[in-house]
Amino acid sequence: MEYNLKELRKKIIADKKDYESFKKTYLGTDGFVKKALDNIKDIPKEEKASYGKEINDIKQLCIDILEKKRVGVTQKNNEKIDPTAPFDINTAKDKRPEILDLKGSKHPIHKEVERFIEIFKSMGFDVMESRQLDDDYHMFESLNFPKGHPARDMYDTFWTEDNFVLPAHTSTMQNRAMKEFGPPPIRAVLPGRCFRNEATDASHEHTFYQIEGVYVDEGISVGNMQATIKAFLEAYLEKELEVRIQPSFFPFTEPDCEFVIGCPFCSKAGCSVCGHSGWIELMGCGMIHPNVLSQAGIDPEKYSGFAWGFGVDRLTMIKLGIDDIRYLRDSNLNFLKQF
Ligand SMILES: [Zn+2]
Repeated sequence: MEYNLKELRKKIIADKKDYESFKKTYLGTDGFVKKALDNIKDIPKEEKASYGKEINDIKQLCIDILEKKRVGVTQKNNEKIDPTAPFDINTAKDKRPEILDLKGSKHPIHKEVERFIEIFKSMGFDVMESRQLDDDYHMFESLNFPKGHPARDMYDTFWTEDNFVLPAHTSTMQNRAMKEFGPPPIRAVLPGRCFRNEATDASHEHTFYQIEGVYVDEGISVGNMQATIKAFLEAYLEKELEVRIQPSFFPFTEPDCEFVIGCPFCSKAGCSVCGHSGWIELMGCGMIHPNVLSQAGIDPEKYSGFAWGFGVDRLTMIKLGIDDIRYLRDSNLNFLKQF
């Protein structure tokens, strides 16, 4: 047996297998190390201790070699290694993990956000980024959710121990935007990251991006809202769209609407993008509630306005033909390299 372990050690050192097959051959459930360990029952009692120790050493050797294989460092004799260098310096070019040869690029979500902002800027909108941690006032009070309002439960989000909230929507920025860009006319878009306490699936994520819009001036109507959102969507999707609004519910708008477009991919015949309904619900919108205007110091008797909030992820998925929202957070290079 002593002899066998020496042979095993030699075999391990000489083995040039890649990471996965090396791991399976030696450390797998049927691997050599496991088999050698099983043999311990046949070893004479007085040799058991030294045999066991030798197996442990061999196991550690395998782990060390695996670690080197993992970082792509080849085991060449006499090769000098500079432990202070970035790890890729010592790696033979053909053994380098592919990631080292990739140049950085923007995430598809960020590229689309830039495109959205470019369109809104061309339409005369100001831009203010939303916060990733906000307070009860901006999440609820300023948006016409008084304390104890049942609609607060629609937004199941995350709270910190000192009572800050991870925003469940970019509407948290409406009050700030109206104060920052007021007095009217106000035209602003408010991109940002949102968080919900959600179970994830192909169309739901706990973290996603929204772009909020607010438009306040004298004599603003639902017709202005519909025309503005339509103009933006047609510029983004580069298609003429059939649009409609249908009733919805938000405490911070009155009336509350859902903005719906005729599916631009199947001309309403029904396809996988529109769930074979011919229509796609794209965003919540509505006329800003008078209480929300008052909270921002705007006289609702004199001014009116509309607001919307749409999911960047959802629109990006529709434009780029992505069928699972989770791909957008996966950091999977094979996915990201396509964009
Ligand atoms: Zn369709």
